[in-house]
Amino acid sequence: MNTLSEKAHRLTVQRFGKTIQMYAPLYLSNECIDTCLYCGFSMHNKIERQTLTTEQVLEEASVLIEKGFQHLLLVAGEHPKKVSVEYLCDVAKKLRPKIASLHIEVAPFEEESYRKLISAGVDGVVIYQETYNRDVYKTVHIGGPKKDFDQRLASTEAACRAGIRFMGIGFLLGLSDWRQELPKLIEHAGYLMKRYWQTQFSVSLPRLKNCASGFQAPHAVSDEDMEQIIALLRVALPEAGIILSTRETPALRDRLLSRGITHMSAGSKTEPGGYLHPNEAGKQFELSDERTPAQVAEAITKAGYEPVWKDWV
Ligand code: SF4
Repeated sequence: MNTLSEKAHRLTVQRFGKTIQMYAPLYLSNECIDTCLYCGFSMHNKIERQTLTTEQVLEEASVLIEKGFQHLLLVAGEHPKKVSVEYLCDVAKKLRPKIASLHIEVAPFEEESYRKLISAGVDGVVIYQETYNRDVYKTVHIGGPKKDFDQRLASTEAACRAGIRFMGIGFLLGLSDWRQELPKLIEHAGYLMKRYWQTQFSVSLPRLKNCASGFQAPHAVSDEDMEQIIALLRVALPEAGIILSTRETPALRDRLLSRGITHMSAGSKTEPGGYLHPNEAGKQFELSDERTPAQVAEAITKAGYEPVWKDWV
């Protein structure tokens, strides 16, 4: 390990101990009114579309709960009619009593809507800015409400003002030069942390993957870059959680454990209904870590960390 990696490791252990919080994404819907060139759910893609009923969501959740997950992340495309605040509140009210923590990664809402979602049981919101470069943002978001860069940025604060307990931010690795994006993310996180001290923040930098849109990352990021990026993030934001999804390969995920990662998903599916009926609906993107949750937990333990399924700190 070089000096940066050692420092990142030390800071992570000091603040978070040698633990990794486990979570699973649960896709509610792949219907979307936006055209985002890099996403499999983009409106222009010809894929099998589906929005789960509340009952179907509960069935999918049962599979994950049985595997040990107590923290779920509900994911959906942007569709105000199919994935409305009312629908999300209904899902949250029925699901939350069965689990320890419920986050959402869906369309951004107004402050009042976040208040309703929090009352229904949602305790975390994830809103990635995708890129902090306005010109790049404009070229990849070509249709739908997501085109509005400022509105997306402001929605993060709307959730914080509503009193959300956990807030996740980040950008997509590969859309623009990460050396320019990273300082912007750190500045954004620093601003939010100072202003909304009651909220706990996490960051995630999903790397662009193959999907139905066929989009190629204009600024591809190597595995070595990933290791450096995560260590830099940790040193810059010692208090923030750092989340790593199954977009990355098992070998890289295992290596990144000691660079500052605090939360990991496992056994994920990126299509609605994918845990009970895999491959029936279109996926958001391809995954690289196909290990079961138990296998991922074993790898975490082998690396000297404790996989934590329930507590969410
Ligand atoms: S990134 Fe989100 S808003 Fe854009 S197409 Fe995909 S699901 Fe829809």
